[in-house]
Amino acid sequence: MDCIFCKIVAGEIPVVTVLDEDKVLAFMDINPASRGHMLVVPKNHAENIFEISEADLTAVMGAVKRCSGAVKEALGAEGITVLQLNGKASDQLVPHLHVHIMPRWEKDGMSVSQWQMGKGDIGELQEIARRVQEHLA
Ligand code: 5GP
Ligand code: ZN
Repeated sequence: MDCIFCKIVAGEIPVVTVLDEDKVLAFMDINPASRGHMLVVPKNHAENIFEISEADLTAVMGAVKRCSGAVKEALGAEGITVLQLNGKASDQLVPHLHVHIMPRWEKDGMSVSQWQMGKGDIGELQEIARRVQEHLA
């Protein structure tokens, strides 16, 4: 499979490694959006959150928690943005699941969470929740 993150996991493309575990690799993002920006990926290929097994996702998120705490302490970050995109409509570029860890500082100017907010319609919220619950059952 021609997957860039699988090649990184296989050691075919060099990266700056942060954490190398049985199921998970964490490495520095090559185009950091903030100082200390890193990525956490499962070693088993899964394109997105719909495909990954719960066991692999649990391992990924455990590593995300530990790497977030470690980079916060290492760089004196004031906050951490954790971001994971699924599908082109969500701006996912690399089709191998990855979680971004982006250290943040007050007034750093990043606009990652600056979306337009508007009051929801309670009837529509209830209808959406009901429809989702049908698919959870
Ligand atoms: P996304 O798919 O969530 O939009 O972002 C993909 C991320 O992977 C980007 O932040 C990009 O800089 C990073 N990336 C893409 N190719 C490489 C690579 O070869 N090495 C590393 N270290 N990061 C990469
Ligand atoms: Zn892959």
